[in-house]
Amino acid sequence: MEKYPKFISYGSQAIDEDDIQSVIETLLSPNLTQGPKITQFEQAIANYVGTKYAVAFCNGTAALHGACYAAGISEGDEVITSPITFAASANCVRYVGGTVVFADIDERTYNIDPEQIRSKITSKTKAIIPVDFTGQPVDIDAIMDIAREHNLIVIEDGAHSLGASYKGRKVGTQADMTMFSFHPVKPITTAEGGVIVTNNEIYYKKLLKFRSHGIEPTAYASEQGDWYYEMTELGYNYRMTDLQAALGISQMKKLDEFIEHRRGIAAVYTEALKDIDSIKVPKQLEETKSGWHLYMIQLENVNRKQVFDAMRAANIGVHVHYIPVYWHPYYKNLGYEQGLCPIAEAWYEKALTLPIHPKLKDNEINYIVNTLKKQITL
Ligand SMILES: *Cc1c(COP(=O)(O)O)cnc(C)c1O
Repeated sequence: MEKYPKFISYGSQAIDEDDIQSVIETLLSPNLTQGPKITQFEQAIANYVGTKYAVAFCNGTAALHGACYAAGISEGDEVITSPITFAASANCVRYVGGTVVFADIDERTYNIDPEQIRSKITSKTKAIIPVDFTGQPVDIDAIMDIAREHNLIVIEDGAHSLGASYKGRKVGTQADMTMFSFHPVKPITTAEGGVIVTNNEIYYKKLLKFRSHGIEPTAYASEQGDWYYEMTELGYNYRMTDLQAALGISQMKKLDEFIEHRRGIAAVYTEALKDIDSIKVPKQLEETKSGWHLYMIQLENVNRKQVFDAMRAANIGVHVHYIPVYWHPYYKNLGYEQGLCPIAEAWYEKALTLPIHPKLKDNEINYIVNTLKKQITL
């Protein structure tokens, strides 16, 4: 079989000379951590998204942990999320002792279905963690309506969706708190990194404290003397370094460019695949603009494993995102059973991720499309 000369990964960072210079400058500056780059990066994110506050963390998972803490989730509280997501969207609830409740997805958009959320609400429900899976914004208006009706806190997992928009508004402006991740495959990277954006000052202050040992950020200067500070809560060291923030500041300047590139690739895939009977392309909600973190198709009446293996043999890094979270042994051991979200489970069996990232070249995209078409029509 024909094989591409190098492995085409499903996702990849795009680092240029400016990024490198930006990190080197910070490396030679007095502050490797707890310096000015953190605030600058947070400001760049908040300005771009259009929120009052942004709090950077050492990774997106730590940021979600902080959001669950700030929301006051604890033992006995139920939190609703999607089963089709990276495990961290659910794990963060467990970190603070809460119970995860999975609500089924809409098989066309792959995102959590607001009506399914409604059906899972009980007197114990405290929050919802909707996930903008693949970069497509969830139906946040519908979700916020449900949340207001039932007095729930919404923490949007926007790990895939920095730069995406919903009804002309950037993701991050609607939910109570929104998390973005900067892992290398995500829309921009800081190697590891994450952020919570919010307009709520109380959450903002809690997040700052949680990120740095539970120490009051304003309590340093005191009558006692300059050495004095107070730790008032059991926090963590979840800080991002200035090196990471410097990379993030530089990457933010290219975010829109990266997304345009991703949109172009998605358009080529959709045009090439939309009329093939055995392939379903992802439906986009009207008035949303996906960030296209992932391009995922559904294979109908085709052996997915065979297609997957053949694509991999051709050096194409197809993938499957994600195994339903509650199928993992950790969640099984907590008592979650197969069949809980039948739409998500059936969707998962047919799902295939095609490569999409800012460095993917036209000839690679054509090669992927042609190889896939050959496999489907075999
Ligand atoms: C990547 C990711 C996370 C976690 O982010 P990290 O920065 O890797 O910790 C959470 N949720 C989803 C949906 C993700 O894809």
